Amino acid sequence: MEKDNIKLSKSNRKSAKAMTNSDVGTQCVQVVVRCRPMDVKETSRGCSRVVDVSPARGVVEIRNPREDPSKDNVKTFTFDAVYDWHSSQQDIYEETVRPLVSSVLDGFNGTIFAYGQTGTGKTYTMEGSKNDLERRGIIPRSFEHIFNHIGRSENMQYLVRASYLEIYQEEIRDLLHADQSLRFELKEKPESGVFVKDLSTVVCKSAQEIQQLMNKGNLNRTIGATNMNEHSSRSHAIFLITIEMSALPNSDNFGSQRGGGIRVGRLNLVDLAGSERQSKTGSCGDRLKEASKINLSLSALGNVISALVDGKTTHVPYRDSKLTRLLQDSLGGNSKTIMVANIGPASYNYDETLTTLRYANRAKNIKNKPRINEDPKDALLRQYQEEISRLKEKLAHKGTIIKKKKKKKKKEDGDDDGDESELDDSKEDNKVSEAEKKMIMEQLKAEKEETENLVTRIKELESKMLCGGKNIVDHTNEQQRALEQRAAEIAERKKREVEMQQKLEDEESTFLGMRETYTTLQQEVDVKSKKLRKCFAKLQALKQELEDINGEYNRDRRELEETQHDLMKELKLKYLIIDNFIPVEEKHKIMSRVKFDEDEDAWVLKEPSPSSIDLIKRPVSVPGARRPISEYAKIALAMGRGYRYAGENILNLELDMPARTTLDYQGPAIAPTIAAVLEEALRDEGDIDVDASNVRLRTPKPRIPSARARPRSVGKIPQMQIPAPVYPKTRGLVSKYMK
Ligand code: ADP
Ligand code: MG
Repeated sequence: MEKDNIKLSKSNRKSAKAMTNSDVGTQCVQVVVRCRPMDVKETSRGCSRVVDVSPARGVVEIRNPREDPSKDNVKTFTFDAVYDWHSSQQDIYEETVRPLVSSVLDGFNGTIFAYGQTGTGKTYTMEGSKNDLERRGIIPRSFEHIFNHIGRSENMQYLVRASYLEIYQEEIRDLLHADQSLRFELKEKPESGVFVKDLSTVVCKSAQEIQQLMNKGNLNRTIGATNMNEHSSRSHAIFLITIEMSALPNSDNFGSQRGGGIRVGRLNLVDLAGSERQSKTGSCGDRLKEASKINLSLSALGNVISALVDGKTTHVPYRDSKLTRLLQDSLGGNSKTIMVANIGPASYNYDETLTTLRYANRAKNIKNKPRINEDPKDALLRQYQEEISRLKEKLAHKGTIIKKKKKKKKKEDGDDDGDESELDDSKEDNKVSEAEKKMIMEQLKAEKEETENLVTRIKELESKMLCGGKNIVDHTNEQQRALEQRAAEIAERKKREVEMQQKLEDEESTFLGMRETYTTLQQEVDVKSKKLRKCFAKLQALKQELEDINGEYNRDRRELEETQHDLMKELKLKYLIIDNFIPVEEKHKIMSRVKFDEDEDAWVLKEPSPSSIDLIKRPVSVPGARRPISEYAKIALAMGRGYRYAGENILNLELDMPARTTLDYQGPAIAPTIAAVLEEALRDEGDIDVDASNVRLRTPKPRIPSARARPRSVGKIPQMQIPAPVYPKTRGLVSKYMK
């Protein structure tokens, strides 16, 4: 185990002098920067490199490609460690990550964030290449580290669990769950803090097992994503490892860990969404959703960092997003935290790279207070241990019962043999003992089965817990271990060298040299002029930086204002719809019952209050009323707005007809002769004289008189004698009875 658990980071050591009591045990977030190599496309396009990395000094310099190269256009940033394009995955792990994972194995909380623009190597740094051992990233290396550590430990018991989740558009998905359509909620408990409700956790017994789990989660990440690139650049992936540990009861460690107390280390491995400005896509309807969700977690992370390092702000907006709530502990809380800021070297990335460097620079100042998590109430290891001892007790008890029963059975068997001569006399007794024997046999069988079940359950539980040298063996040889030890030492020395170098540079630029003695006045003037020039340059750089930051701030503000404007527009539309299409009473009813649920991040309906339930009383009959009438109806009636029956509750609306836009039809003027012909043709049938002398009638049907003819035929229904009308051929009309 690492001896120096609470190793003060560089920035802490620097301010050690000014440490107050409340600062004891604080540790700043460790920030490292990694610049990836130029990729093939960038090289072929002939992009110029604007980033310079100096690992020995922990310095990154960035040159503005739009400014005159002759001017001083370089910005310098200092970090705990910086890694250039030649750096290997192993370098980062050994120098930066290993100490943190070792702390987790001692019961601390640890978090590693990968931050940066899409395509700068966050996933490469966290996961790396699957097939190439050398290029494995932080996550697989930490798996190996954890299980190797457990394998080498003595007299310790461990339980390792893992979960894998993703935050996309402020929704949490469990990447290990069979159903990827489910969304999970954050909950909070006073003793264990914020957690994801119902998130799957899987007990892992080896590095291979946990790696397979991660692969499975990664497969699930791709499911449902229409554009994987876009999805991964907009979602945060968090791999959580929980390591519970306790000393075995019969070991020396037992006393040192407070009577076999349990410690829990939690490691959060976070591959953040791309930090680049999101392009404004989506139609107007999606705007609300998009604006309120897409980068919320990332901007909330920025706000949390700003609030933490500000010094004046008392409120830290952790609750603003899922990510910041879930990882609250990692920023300003009980955790050791590393932020890896990934950048690209090419000139066209200048703006984003500078933003990342500034972001990382701010994060350096976040102070955490890591401490070992001892004896948490919800430790699974404790539950398992208790369950095992309970089962073992039960098993021992069962053992004695079985023994007793076996004895009894044996005795009865023995009695049988001995009493053979008395067989006839005690036939009845024998029958009883036969039945009893059978029963005991059955009981014995059942007990045996139960015992076997107990044994398998104990074995199953025990197999989940890992003990070094027992159910997990480290196969690395001594030589390999020595090598690892050596690598760790080298890493530590390198770190110290960087710190010394930074300190030296710091002092050089301040006033330590003031006390120097000068031989001549001219020499003093020269030296002081040089110093003055240096200070002036520094002042100019700071002024420029201030200007840049102001510019960036104004740009952000403008963008926010634009977004706000769009959202207001959308909101006005919603108001318009509500005011014009939702009845006022319904609106009031809804408004009085809704409340905002912070946990669900949504408006929900409250349960109706008991007082409103009391109002519903049984109605009493009122003499003269049509039916018993309720109190409410009576009041409503008195106020002149009540309806007693559903049927009365119908709105009578006059149709609001639109203004007429047409004229009445006016027929064309008709020549008098044609009008006369038409008049003749349309004249009433009754007035037509017809000759029906030689017409044969078909089936006699009572003729229904036409409306116009009715007045004349009232009272005498025409019979067969009435001849069917014959129409003059010249008019081209045919009787319907003639067909
Ligand atoms: P991000 O996750 O930030 O979007 P990736 O990790 O996917 O970026 O990296 C983009 C590409 O750059 C990948 O092809 C990756 O292999 C490559 N890459 C990133 N960092 C390095 C590095 N340090 N060395 C070599 N290749 C790298
Ligand atoms: Mg990625």
